[in-house]
Amino acid sequence: MAEQITDDQVAEKLGGLRMTKQRKVVYEVVQELAKEHPTASSVYTRAKEIMPTISLATVYNCLETLTDAGAITQVNLHREASRFCPNLQPHAHFFCAKCNAVFDVNLQDKADASEPWDLPSGSRIEEMNVAMRGLCPDCRDSK
Ligand SMILES: [Zn+2]
Ligand SMILES: [Zn+2]
Repeated sequence: MAEQITDDQVAEKLGGLRMTKQRKVVYEVVQELAKEHPTASSVYTRAKEIMPTISLATVYNCLETLTDAGAITQVNLHREASRFCPNLQPHAHFFCAKCNAVFDVNLQDKADASEPWDLPSGSRIEEMNVAMRGLCPDCRDSK
């Protein structure tokens, strides 16, 4: 589970970038919807409930800034709109082709993200973007 991080920690991640009200709202929405890994448009829909004046362009901008700063990660899935994830632990994503749910897949050995993969020896993973596609348990059971 993604841990709740404080404004100060986010500000630190933003590396001197100002934590504007809009960025804060966008960041909080990504946290809030972490389980579903929201697309930009679902972030927008929720952000607008909190801050009615926010525009879709602003949401896109904030998502980009937060991604560049490493506060959230952008998840690209098979022919799908990008999703956003606030879980900064190295992990993969499992994507259900039927209900579009996205699950965080944690590594068994959290100490070393390179462990399960046959990387060239001596490599170090700095970022992971691994997506698996299939059927979640609910969809597998429903005919
Ligand atoms: Zn499913
Ligand atoms: Zn994730």
